[in-house]
Amino acid sequence: MRLLSRKIYRAFPELDQFDDSTCKRYINRTKQMSTTGMGCLLMILVFIASFIAWVFIEYNAIQVGVFWALEKLGMRVGPYTEIFIFLIAFSGYIWFPWIMLLLARDRWLYTQIKKQLKGVGCRECGYCLVGLPINETRFNGFVVCPECNSENFFNDRSLTRADIDPTFVSS
Ligand SMILES: [Zn+2]
Repeated sequence: MRLLSRKIYRAFPELDQFDDSTCKRYINRTKQMSTTGMGCLLMILVFIASFIAWVFIEYNAIQVGVFWALEKLGMRVGPYTEIFIFLIAFSGYIWFPWIMLLLARDRWLYTQIKKQLKGVGCRECGYCLVGLPINETRFNGFVVCPECNSENFFNDRSLTRADIDPTFVSS
């Protein structure tokens, strides 16, 4: 898992040939296209579930577990240590759901980019057409698949130039 990565696009070899600013525009476009009710609902559920999970983690692992372990080790828990442990435990109601939310958002974006790249596959063999040269000589332009030689016309499919060539994505 790419932890809160800012360069999530580098996980996709299809985008390797494009520079950072082009990839960022492409990712932003994917973000805009995938900000759906379903996505938002998923994020809210992750947040709530993480909050509830922390109730159990906080009580069982920290309040009971940590103090039990410290006692077993024969370590005396001073008042400052106790305050420190409680601070981590209670602040977890804020940071734990946020971290889980960011991880879930990253994961969601990753699957959306993957889905989008997959959608730009050759109609015959599914080979990814992203980054291939656009032939403008006939009709409204087309892309020739290097794997099976089929011509993928923009007119036949709901493809746009920006789907094939991320440099066409406007900022
Ligand atoms: Zn093909």
